[in-house]
Amino acid sequence: MTDDSSQPVRVVVLSGPSGSGKSTIVQRLIRECPVPIRQSISATTRAPRPGEVDGEHYHFLTLAEFETQRKNGEFLECAEVHRTGNWYGTLWSEVDVAQKLKMWSLLEIDVEGAQSVMRMYPHAITIFVTLPSLDEYERRLRARGTESEEVLQRRLQTAREELKMAGCYRHQIVNDDLDTAVQAICRILATHQAEINAR
Ligand code: 5GP
Repeated sequence: MTDDSSQPVRVVVLSGPSGSGKSTIVQRLIRECPVPIRQSISATTRAPRPGEVDGEHYHFLTLAEFETQRKNGEFLECAEVHRTGNWYGTLWSEVDVAQKLKMWSLLEIDVEGAQSVMRMYPHAITIFVTLPSLDEYERRLRARGTESEEVLQRRLQTAREELKMAGCYRHQIVNDDLDTAVQAICRILATHQAEINAR
């Protein structure tokens, strides 16, 4: 959003605790959403998980590379997430590509990053995905089985803290049924797209 300020900003921020099903929702939105939408591929310093592909799931960077890009102002926002020592950030280049294509950028980011985006773009669509209960979060996290017990406990604690932030988002979606959650988000986006089209 560097070169054409006459264009409305099409940014969707999706946050929610680990295990809330955000990533699945993102995949479904990219496939099914009636509005043109593109996933912003974040940069991260965390190691790739099995099956993750550089440039597809994340731009995997060393801490030194991340720091250089941060100093060069290449990030719209960045944060150390879940107190793991791992940094994550949204690259301007990702959002610019979508903006030029008149597509929405879909940012799946944590609550700290989301707050930076809200400050920068008060009109961004912000959606917090949540689950009916913390027991359900824990069950889903364990079912995923990608974290050690220590990391899992830290993520649960982060989830408790993140849930307190849900009210800062323009929309809260309870993901107790995936289809219903995806449809609700599609409706939100369609409404905003119609507003833009009507301008
Ligand atoms: P994971 O390591 O499980 O892929 O992601 C951990 C967390 O990092 C998720 O809660 C996700 O929302 C957050 N995250 C991913 N990309 C970004 C980003 O670009 N910026 C920020 N602030 N958080 C991110």
